[in-house]
Amino acid sequence: MTDPDPAETLFEKIIAREIPADIVHETATTLAFRDISPQAAVHVLIVPKTRYRNVGELASADPALLAELLTTAHHVAELEGLVDGGYRVVFNTGADAGQTVFHVHAHVLGGEQLGHFGRYETQQAQ
Ligand code: AMP
Repeated sequence: MTDPDPAETLFEKIIAREIPADIVHETATTLAFRDISPQAAVHVLIVPKTRYRNVGELASADPALLAELLTTAHHVAELEGLVDGGYRVVFNTGADAGQTVFHVHAHVLGGEQLGHFGRYETQQAQ
């Protein structure tokens, strides 16, 4: 997997408040902020404050923190009013999945009927 920025990503800068973000929730170990390029009516990213490059690395190193990240994702879905209608949690992992920021993050998507997901050409046809 290519890691374009092994030292630091922009998410560490958001966590450190060095660059602005629309923060919707914070715990001692996680931060949730709106995606700058939303792919649904509601699109929030949940990140652990400690950096792991992807969800597999996080799961291996600190499964309790992964569980907390998912609990926080559900809490954010509650705060955003998504639970009744439904929502999607996505971890893009590696190049084929289109991961661009190598600080693990859960995408929480909802607030409208979501499209299907899968092959690249399927998405292009919609
Ligand atoms: P991924 O492609 O799964 O690595 O997701 C990275 C996400 O970060 C993309 O959905 C981007 O739109 C989002 N993103 C990039 N820069 C920012 C930023 N400054 N603030 C909030 N979200 C961002």
